[in-house]
Amino acid sequence: MSIRATVLNCPIDLCDINFALQKSKEAIDNNENLHIITINPEMIMNAQKNKSFFEIVNSSDLNIVDGVGVKIALKIKGIKQEQIRGVDFSRSLVKLANENNYRLAFLGAKEEVIQKAKENFLIEYPNLNFSYVRNGYFQNDDEIIEEIKKAQPQILLVGLGSPRQEEFIIKLKESLKGCVFVGVGGSFDVFSGITKEAPQIYRKLGLEWLYRTISQPERFKRIFPLLPLFLIKCIISTILKKG
Ligand code: UDP
Repeated sequence: MSIRATVLNCPIDLCDINFALQKSKEAIDNNENLHIITINPEMIMNAQKNKSFFEIVNSSDLNIVDGVGVKIALKIKGIKQEQIRGVDFSRSLVKLANENNYRLAFLGAKEEVIQKAKENFLIEYPNLNFSYVRNGYFQNDDEIIEEIKKAQPQILLVGLGSPRQEEFIIKLKESLKGCVFVGVGGSFDVFSGITKEAPQIYRKLGLEWLYRTISQPERFKRIFPLLPLFLIKCIISTILKKG
């Protein structure tokens, strides 16, 4: 197992991308389920006020550090941890699926986006074993759960936005066996090419959030004042040695 830390009472696994990939492979090969959350400050803040989401974050198998804010929060506690970007992790899982011929499923984003994301991956890996691909705009969860059950994916990426994607995974989880479930937020938009990834320099400096806010100004409302508030809460809780 990896060492776990907490940020505002949310567990965070201190590990690198290879550990998360190895855990994923082990779970699939042992026919066990694995729920991975790529956690960011927005999710941790949501967990503070939404009890059921707090429980989800506390019951998942692996919470990996996606947002740079979480990396900073750990640093405040004196813990050094690299960021594992959700898009990079998802890409690596697709590669893992290709190498092992695992059944792969994508759920989320708009129809043209999800189809383009699939097409792009098929250019890179022509033999990719897709067992299910569907857009994320639907009313009846049970219908989709039935479809996914039939498709029996071994890696399922769900991009419905948080907390919807995590709630959906919890609903679905017990119906499958030997599957790695990951909520991927807006990653399909990136894989399709409609959303540009932050240039390397922004990524290196941990300023991806700034790039995303500049290119999608409507996101400003979402991260401000949430991000500074998150950091203040982390500093206070570290001083008080809580969470
Ligand atoms: N989405 C969806 N169904 C919905 C609402 C949203 O599939 O009912 C998709 C949306 O198209 C986008 C993703 O969920 O691809 C959410 O992206 P967002 O940027 O909010 O996620 P983040 O990366 O910030 O977690």
